[in-house]
Amino acid sequence: MLKIQNIQTFYGNIQALKDVSIEVKEGEIVALIGANGAGKTTTLMSICGITPPRHGEILLDGDPIQNVSADKIVQKGIVQVPEGRRIFPDLTVQENLEMGAFLRKNKRLIQQDMNYVMTLFPILEKRRTQLGGTLSGGEQQMLAISRALMARPRLLLLDEPSLGLAPLIIKQIFEIIRQINKESNTTIFLVEQNANQALKLADRGYVMENGRITLVDSADNLLSNDDVRKAYLGL
Ligand code: ATP
Repeated sequence: MLKIQNIQTFYGNIQALKDVSIEVKEGEIVALIGANGAGKTTTLMSICGITPPRHGEILLDGDPIQNVSADKIVQKGIVQVPEGRRIFPDLTVQENLEMGAFLRKNKRLIQQDMNYVMTLFPILEKRRTQLGGTLSGGEQQMLAISRALMARPRLLLLDEPSLGLAPLIIKQIFEIIRQINKESNTTIFLVEQNANQALKLADRGYVMENGRITLVDSADNLLSNDDVRKAYLGL
């Protein structure tokens, strides 16, 4: 579905990505793990058209998208849940969800998806008229994921969904990500510093260090890889 081939992405003169190649197949959950500053967020931003790569290609179903604008990429079915949640704090839960569907026209399908996200995260139903900014961190993450789902993504990009959340909430959110992948056949590309949780959820994983991919393998193999265990799992 998504093929990233030898991309190089820069911030001015600083090269953040050095020949990064990643593949995500339809229906998969793929995790990208790595330390702070490794280039994980930049990889997502490159896919989304926010910081397009200077060299290399990004193919969606075989078509190059590295020069496509960010809004067109959403229309093509790639939707990101950004790091730090970034919901609209002054809009209600319902309004935040409606914003997620702003490119869509079919009101019946939008309503259907609204009902679907409320069944995934029943707490959002309870908080429907509450302002986004008054929700807890975990609830905001649930809202951010739900808002992305309202755009009906084929490929959902998640940037550190576990950041700053309590272990129990992380567990709940990761279980729902698995459910989203299975039930609505949404392909997932997940960026995480929480390597343990991410690799337990994923089918395959990539390890990134200093802007380069240093390892790629099945998630099970990465979980038992000695280097990964020492560097990222604290074992
Ligand atoms: P984190 O887990 O902290 O988000 P990351 O793996 O996502 O880390 P990136 O945020 O992609 O890493 O950063 C990769 C490199 O690019 C780092 O060296 C960072 O300092 C640099 N960088 C990121 N954003 C910018 C920017 N807007 N301007 C200049 N340099 C940047």
